[in-house]
This record gives sequence, C-alpha cells and structure tokens, in this order.
Amino acid sequence: MKYDVQRSCGHDEVHDLFRSAAERQRKIRWLKSTPCESCYREEQKQNCKTNSEMAAKTNQARKAALLLGSVAQVNWAETIRQAVFNALDEALAGKTILLDAKTKDRKRVWKSVSSQLLAIPEASWWIGIYKSLLDPVNPRKTPSTHTLLTEFVAHCLSKVEDAHAVGITTEVFSRVQIAKARANAVIENKIKVDSFIAKGRAIGLKGRVKIWRDGKGSVSIFADDFSFTAEGRWAGKLENETKISNKKIVEFCKEVLDAWPKTQEQFYC
Ligand SMILES: [Zn+2]
Repeated sequence: MKYDVQRSCGHDEVHDLFRSAAERQRKIRWLKSTPCESCYREEQKQNCKTNSEMAAKTNQARKAALLLGSVAQVNWAETIRQAVFNALDEALAGKTILLDAKTKDRKRVWKSVSSQLLAIPEASWWIGIYKSLLDPVNPRKTPSTHTLLTEFVAHCLSKVEDAHAVGITTEVFSRVQIAKARANAVIENKIKVDSFIAKGRAIGLKGRVKIWRDGKGSVSIFADDFSFTAEGRWAGKLENETKISNKKIVEFCKEVLDAWPKTQEQFYC
C-alpha cells in the first residue's frame, strides 16, 4: 500500500509498505520521526567523522588492535567497538545483568573475552555482528547495551560453561555458535573460490565458470567460452572455443568439480 509521509526534516515522501497493519503503522511512526534518506546521510556525514575520530582515540587508549578495512568500514567499526568496550566496562563494574552469575569462573571468562575483543582487527567482523542486531523495520535504532554485549561476548566464547559463567543462556550461546559456523563456511568457500579464480586465470580463462547439477546426477560446467559435461566419472565431453588446450581445461574442470562435490557454484575469472 502506498502512503504519503512527511519526514522529520520536512520532506514529503511516498512509501510502499507491506507486512501487517501493525507493522505498517510502526514503520510510518518511525518514518515520521526520522529525516529522509538524503538529509540523514548529510547529517551522518557530519557526525560520523567526529564520532569515529573520538572512538578511535579511546579505543587506541585501550590498546585495541588497529582496524583493517576500507576507511568507511574502519570508521563504523571504531564506533561499534567503542560501544562494546564501554558495555564491557559497565559489566565488569557490576552494572549489567550479565554479571548476575556468581561463579569462580566469571573473572577468567571476562578477562579472556576482553583480550579477544581487543585483538580482533577485521572491521568487517565488527560490522557483520552489529548489522545482525539491527531491527529490520527500524534499522537506525541502536541495539540495547545488553543485546550488544550479549552478542559480542557470545561470539568470543567456545564453551557453554563459560557462557553460563557470565550469565549467557544456552539458547543464545547455541544460536551464536551456529551463526559462527555459517560465517566460517562462507569464508572458507570464498578462499576456495579465490584460489580457482587464480588457477583459471593462470591457464588463460576469462569470464564466468559455473557448476550446474540437474538433480539427477548429471553435472556440467558452463563457462563463457566452453562447456564441460561429466557423464559418468570424467568421461567428459568438451566444447571449447578458447585457445587453451582441452587437456588444461579438462584438468581444471575436474579440480573444480572435486572442490564442490555437491553444490552449485559460480565465479568469474
Ligand atoms: Zn529531507
């Protein structure tokens, strides 16, 4: 449904809203209380620079690792980790419920979490977890201190007993472990893809390489300039319009299919 909404900056906008009536009303209230996209961006640009500069200074004073990433990523991650470190300080001072659990392991766990968080340099790691905490209807709302702390702390733990020692439930701990495993699988696949892009380029391949499985056991590789059909085990048929030798391409295709024995995948050399 289309709605006319006046944003807090005074600009009028038309929004096409879906979901339930209650959620549409919630979204409209949020739209009315916030500036439009371009005014918001302008305001952010001004605030962001000073905020992230200040955050970078305090993070540095805590001896946090230098962040890696693009300038925009680093700036954003500096403010995220400053918020996390502040939340952690509060927790250590006994000001949040995460410290309710009074076990002898508590101090050890907090110490380990603090040192892990200080040492994580990838800006994308900080941003990825932070983004997962944002409300899809109200994405500019900052997550509560409690949510922020629970999630980042849970990401640093590998034993459920340690989670319990700082008041994190088994449920939250398990959910985070699953998310971590998924994120690792994505990273591992990216490394694999990158290595095959390099191999493909080394033999002179250009463009798309795509693994296709039809669900009946037949598997092919379609590329921009050749196609390879594996009928049976590598009894491959090859249509090749490249100047690369069939032998090299077949070898490459076999390796690609070995690397992804069950899934579809595509990449660009
Ligand atoms: Zn505006």
